[in-house]
Amino acid sequence: MDLYSTLTRKVEPLTTIHPDRVYLFVCGPTVYDYSHIGHARTYVVFDVFAKYLRFTGKEVFYLQNITDVDDKIINRAREENISQSELARKFETEYFKDMQSLGINAVSYYARATTHIPEIIDQVGRLLKKGVAYVTENGVYFNIDTFGRNGELSGQDRANRKSRVMDESKHNPEDFALWKFGEYGEYTWDSPWGRGRPGWHIEDTAISEKYFGQQYDIHGGGLDLIFPHHEAEIAQMESLEGKHPMVKYWMHTGFLTVGGEKMSKSLGNFITIRDALKTYDRDVLRYFILLSHYRSPLQATDEGLANAAKGLEHIRAVATADTGPDNEGREAFRAAMENDLNTPMALAAIQHLAANGDLEALREFGAILGINFLRETSAPLSVLQEIRDELRKKKQFEIADLIRKMMTDAGITINDKPL
Ligand code: AMP
Repeated sequence: MDLYSTLTRKVEPLTTIHPDRVYLFVCGPTVYDYSHIGHARTYVVFDVFAKYLRFTGKEVFYLQNITDVDDKIINRAREENISQSELARKFETEYFKDMQSLGINAVSYYARATTHIPEIIDQVGRLLKKGVAYVTENGVYFNIDTFGRNGELSGQDRANRKSRVMDESKHNPEDFALWKFGEYGEYTWDSPWGRGRPGWHIEDTAISEKYFGQQYDIHGGGLDLIFPHHEAEIAQMESLEGKHPMVKYWMHTGFLTVGGEKMSKSLGNFITIRDALKTYDRDVLRYFILLSHYRSPLQATDEGLANAAKGLEHIRAVATADTGPDNEGREAFRAAMENDLNTPMALAAIQHLAANGDLEALREFGAILGINFLRETSAPLSVLQEIRDELRKKKQFEIADLIRKMMTDAGITINDKPL
């Protein structure tokens, strides 16, 4: 597969550190509110990416962090007069529900920042020992002057890389916090340097080092994270033992936009995933997202969504009679996916497969894209449900679970009745 890396600004063949195994880390959400369809764009893309890699026979360890200690969480918990953990657990659960309703289920492991505090403190300690960090009255800071490769990922010059957080105790405006001193309520921990909480960037490198080591294959996230977040991650990890590059392939998704602006909580121009799903089903949302290449901006408009619904309906309308394999169509689908995850081209191949009646390929590729391209007929579905109910009654859970997995992979959600 060929992939574009923000680091090299080139499309290059994907070569992994371990043959046939891919270590993929994607920045997870800050859990202080409901997720919007901008988040959905990023997470649908990486869901499809991981599923495609698995389809090609690779073993993918897809790791995502959950940012559950952060200013936004502390402030929102204060506003709502509940504990930080109560707020974070609530929105973490809501995030998982949204992901489930979008058919996003490729993540191997979710790692919370708050359950990795020992790893974070250990990493900060090692950075201090290396002489690349210093302690002030406000916290522990990374000294960016010690890191020669600073700015390589974003390609921005120094003048544009100043940290947004102004703190008089910092030696240099570009330095960033590894540990912030203070009492933040429930989410405050002791450290060898003083009580406080982690800075924004250190949770990702502490978590990824724990599960992957200091070098791994692919790091993903939205475009907004390149600077300062991902630059800071590189500086932290590569300063530990000088291993370079921390990651060869940096994949960044373009923004979902509204009237040319990024959809975001702070601009108030967002539609939550659950609200969007009241109007459009998840197949349509995923189809709409995948009609654009992941690196391009994606305009969220009613017209665009309505066109996606029509396009999908057309595929379903023509894909009726099974006329066997369409090898050309299958090849075109794979070639598109191999070409830097070119999902618009892959969907063009899907249209050919539908027109040529290759229902098997539509089922198989539909499972990768998380879209059901075939018209559901309720009769066989209800039969399958009944078979599952019977199997569960007879405690034959293994087969019942297998049927559930196959149905889920085919994009069919099933709700078990209590036994
Ligand atoms: P956050 O919870 O804001 O940290 O965002 C979680 C992930 O969603 C990050 O990878 C963001 O870059 C991504 N994201 C947030 N807003 C958008 C958007 N409008 N379009 C695409 N990705 C987004």
